[in-house]
Amino acid sequence: MTREQAQARIAELRRLVEYHNYRYYVLDQPEISDEEYDALFRELQQLEAQFPEFITPDSPTQRVGAPPLSAFPEHAHRETMLSLDNAFSEEELLAFDQRVKRFLDLPQEADIEYTCELKIDGLAVSLTYEEGVLTVGATRGDGVRGEEVTPNIRTVRQIPLRLRSEDSLFDAPPRLIEVRGEVYLSYQEFERINHERAQAGEPLFANPRNAAAGSLRQLDSRITARRRLRFWAYGVGYCEGIEFATQWDILQQLKRWGFPVNPHTRLVKTIHEAIEFCRAWSRRRAELDYATDGVVIKVNRIAWQRQLGATARAPRWAIAYKYPAAQAITTLLEVRWQVGRTGVLTPVAIMEPVQVGGVTVARATLHNIDYIREKDIRLGDRVVIQRAGEVIPEVVSVLTDARDGDEIPIEPPTQCPACGARVERAEDEAALRCINLACPAQIVERIRHFTSRNAMNIEGVGDKWVQRLFDLGYIKDPADLYSLPQHRDALVQLERSGEKLVSNLLNAIEKSKQNPLERLIFALGIRHVGEHAARLLAEHFGSLDALMNAREEQIMQIHGIGPETAREVVEFFARPENRAVIEKLRRAGVRMEAERKERKATPFAGMTFVFTGELQSYTREQAEALVRELGGRATSSVSKATTYVVAGPGAGSKLQKALELGIPVLDEAQFLAMVRAAQGE
Ligand code: NAD
Repeated sequence: MTREQAQARIAELRRLVEYHNYRYYVLDQPEISDEEYDALFRELQQLEAQFPEFITPDSPTQRVGAPPLSAFPEHAHRETMLSLDNAFSEEELLAFDQRVKRFLDLPQEADIEYTCELKIDGLAVSLTYEEGVLTVGATRGDGVRGEEVTPNIRTVRQIPLRLRSEDSLFDAPPRLIEVRGEVYLSYQEFERINHERAQAGEPLFANPRNAAAGSLRQLDSRITARRRLRFWAYGVGYCEGIEFATQWDILQQLKRWGFPVNPHTRLVKTIHEAIEFCRAWSRRRAELDYATDGVVIKVNRIAWQRQLGATARAPRWAIAYKYPAAQAITTLLEVRWQVGRTGVLTPVAIMEPVQVGGVTVARATLHNIDYIREKDIRLGDRVVIQRAGEVIPEVVSVLTDARDGDEIPIEPPTQCPACGARVERAEDEAALRCINLACPAQIVERIRHFTSRNAMNIEGVGDKWVQRLFDLGYIKDPADLYSLPQHRDALVQLERSGEKLVSNLLNAIEKSKQNPLERLIFALGIRHVGEHAARLLAEHFGSLDALMNAREEQIMQIHGIGPETAREVVEFFARPENRAVIEKLRRAGVRMEAERKERKATPFAGMTFVFTGELQSYTREQAEALVRELGGRATSSVSKATTYVVAGPGAGSKLQKALELGIPVLDEAQFLAMVRAAQGE
């Protein structure tokens, strides 16, 4: 490559990397996979190494992440939050170890102790604790400045609002400390969120990391609170009033302060043991219920870390080993068009089974017909499949060079594979749809949706049973589930059935009659009505009858419900066949009224709180709101009816009054402990 060519390519790579950084860090909507991104980034790094005269301070290789979004206040990190250098092979890990020793002037045969930590695929946050109390939670941003997202951080149950310090004097909180760690989502929660978004017609998150980032960077922290974010602590930034000797000590101390620290972390004596750890976890990571994309290896001794220092982008004392891309090559044997409950046909690739990232895969999604055409995927093709953060593997590309001419183009079906009815394609959609509402495949999917965990949660009716009961003619719509008790004897006689199984099933069905209204509304499977919309509708209308009789304008008035959803709701209830199912459900005794409010968890019911003096972790209004949320009352004056007075520094006459009346007085820490206990932690 000539200098001019290199210069042009460097410029192009910078543009590309910057564009993808923006999509990834700012919009939480990446367009390419992390592997593809890493390849671009690496090419840029290598070219810059070859032609250092073209390095500029604004090159993405010299920066961390992206600058913060403007909607949140900015937070200046006291100590920069760096990124990590990557290693993509064992050789690169050995080279890292050698580099470290050279830098420290140690002989090459010396051994260095490292910590091995799973690299959690979430987003880095910095939590500032002053005198042991959480005061700021911020995202990494560009490493120097992040977004202040404290109210959202507070909704993460695993993050202590105050450092625990009961255990010993040793754990006394330092004056000031930045705790660093990763906010992440489990696969299960990621799927739940995407499912909800799909139902609401919103764009899906590409992977759990982007979903976690999108959730934490919500302007409305109530949305964040619903997203069940989790946290692992892995380090400290700036701190005052405490010194650590090793990274391992840091992790132990974080545990004592009440932070979750990943239990798979190990301290190893040599780089070879670290490599073993990486090997083991590139297989074992499939066991975890959250995404990891590698292993972070850190020099254990802090004195050495200081000596090694950092470049503009990453510390020299740590490296992230990235797992090999979870991709594999196999042959596409067949395409099955699966019919969903709304009639959408999804192409599923049936392939020769192959190992990808530790699990055997024989099916992958092809998304839709446009995707198939764009990638020119044909039957008999050798295809690259990928399991990224998502759980459903996908076909990402075709090895066209491997074709021998026998490959057959994939034609979209003109008839529904399940019922033979006509297939249509709506103008503005990529999806094909079976137009027959009585299509058996759609009915089965609708019943499955009705029984699913987030809907009526009828345990014991797995997908197989729904199909079986449908094939045998016992259920033709969701309401028929409630007449299954009439067929008890026949059910017990079925193959692979029995007394126990049937009675569990019938109990679960019986129990589901008492479900809250929002579950029923969600279970009906109205288009665009996800769990969240169902909750809003239930809260607003209070009964299924009120909702059924509502007009579009009334529904649209609800904050959070759009015109499209409103139209779908009205259309759904206008259909006689849907009304008939609802009448059957009513006759079966399924609850159709909203729950009374007091059924909510109200551990503070009957208690009255008065706050006085200053609070550290909440404003007084927030603390009062918290009490009300938990079912209690908050008043401003102390009387005999007061249960607790919460007093902070500067408390005056109210504290005096409490003491006179003999009302128990709590300090802030005791109050917070009560709150956390009440919230079930
Ligand atoms: P990184 O993810 O490679 O590594 C640094 C991060 O690792 C830290 O900030 C922290 O969040 C995380 N981490 C997890 N566990 C840790 C532990 N135990 N100790 C320390 N840190 C830990 O760096 P990055 O700058 O956050 O992101 C770069 C990566 O993001 C790229 O490698 C790429 O895969 C992805 N990316 C993808 C796109 C895209 O378009 N697909 C765009 C930009 C970035």
